[in-house]
Amino acid sequence: MPTLELHELVDCATDEQEAVIRNVAYKAGVLWPCLNADCRRDQPRSAPRCTSCGCDRKGRPIGDSWPITYGPISGHLLADLREALVEWFTERGRPLPDAVSFEYTDQYESHEWSDWGSLHFGGRTDPYCDFHTSIVAEILTEISDDEAPQHNDVLTIALPR
Ligand SMILES: [Zn+2]
Repeated sequence: MPTLELHELVDCATDEQEAVIRNVAYKAGVLWPCLNADCRRDQPRSAPRCTSCGCDRKGRPIGDSWPITYGPISGHLLADLREALVEWFTERGRPLPDAVSFEYTDQYESHEWSDWGSLHFGGRTDPYCDFHTSIVAEILTEISDDEAPQHNDVLTIALPR
């Protein structure tokens, strides 16, 4: 069978046919519909989050997360980290991301959360933002001191919208 992009099929379909094509694609798992009522854009199977609005497959906006094998993280440290992140962006006049993710690192010969993070803006991610020598980095060190993360761990902190 010749290879065909899904949009080529949809482009030449009637509205009724398009609905059928979408439903087949959802059932087959090659597309998933964003459940955010303000978005509703179709997403490819490979996207863990909506590439447009950033919601997950259940329609939830990005929230705090860390591996189930890690933590719990003390509530006051989480609150301090969130506050320090908001201050960091506000002081620099930079747009506040929806969330910031930190990764495990051993670059300082200890196992800890990186003092750089990736920034999530809707479905877009800026892969690198350096918080070195900031209060954000100090709090991450405190969290690491309570419990060292493991290889491949990711800590995501959602910021107030
Ligand atoms: Zn969406």
